[in-house]
Amino acid sequence: MRRLIVGNWKMHGRSRDLAGLSALAHALAGSSETGAEIVVCPPFTLLRETNALSEGAFAVGAQDCAAQMDGPFTGDISAAMVRDCGAQFVILGHSERRCGHGEADERVQLKIVAALQAGLIPIVCFGESQQQRAAGGAVEAVLAQVQAGVPALQGQSLVAAYEPIWAIGSGLTPSPSQISLAHHAMRDALREKGCAGPVRVLYGGSVRPANCAELLATEGVDGLLVGAASLETAAFLSIIAVAQQYAR
Ligand code: PEP
Repeated sequence: MRRLIVGNWKMHGRSRDLAGLSALAHALAGSSETGAEIVVCPPFTLLRETNALSEGAFAVGAQDCAAQMDGPFTGDISAAMVRDCGAQFVILGHSERRCGHGEADERVQLKIVAALQAGLIPIVCFGESQQQRAAGGAVEAVLAQVQAGVPALQGQSLVAAYEPIWAIGSGLTPSPSQISLAHHAMRDALREKGCAGPVRVLYGGSVRPANCAELLATEGVDGLLVGAASLETAAFLSIIAVAQQYAR
């Protein structure tokens, strides 16, 4: 299986940054069939242009979508609109949405339903806080999020991302055994939810060129969700190059 490498640009990126994405598409051209599967998630404002310049070298995803498809929801962007821009994926339940926008599991669940209905593949993030980890309840916290945040999936599939909150942007990462434990528990819980196919679980949180090989070699890791390092074309390309070696 090819490893899935997702770049989350967060609230970064203007028209002038499209040159970096063109360079990425150019560098990946020809290698996308055999190596890793790549998804770039720019802000909503760059979705359509990113899709146009990708020329199939990578897929495009949004970083969120509304729980409703249309209607009087000022400022919201629906899954159908995201799909209409050419995106195939959408990140949902990122801790920056959960913590910064009060997004509860119930809302994440509604967004997953909307995304699937619009034909998007959700990349759903789960992760424990530092306090939960310190109290020895990391896996329980993540499983509780899966339980409450994922709808019953009838043969549909999604991608999960294990993103410990304390690892995001901190330079810290869990140990390989802590990652494996969380990934196996999440995969089992998602199978119980009816998730179809080989359930892909990504690791996210302070992924860098220097640590990506160890993370990709960790049992149970199907790919990586990359924040800051995805903003630098050279760094993102070197992570992709390592992932291509780990295709299995
Ligand atoms: C993220 O926010 O999804 C993330 C993984 O960020 P970083 O790689 O910067 O820790």
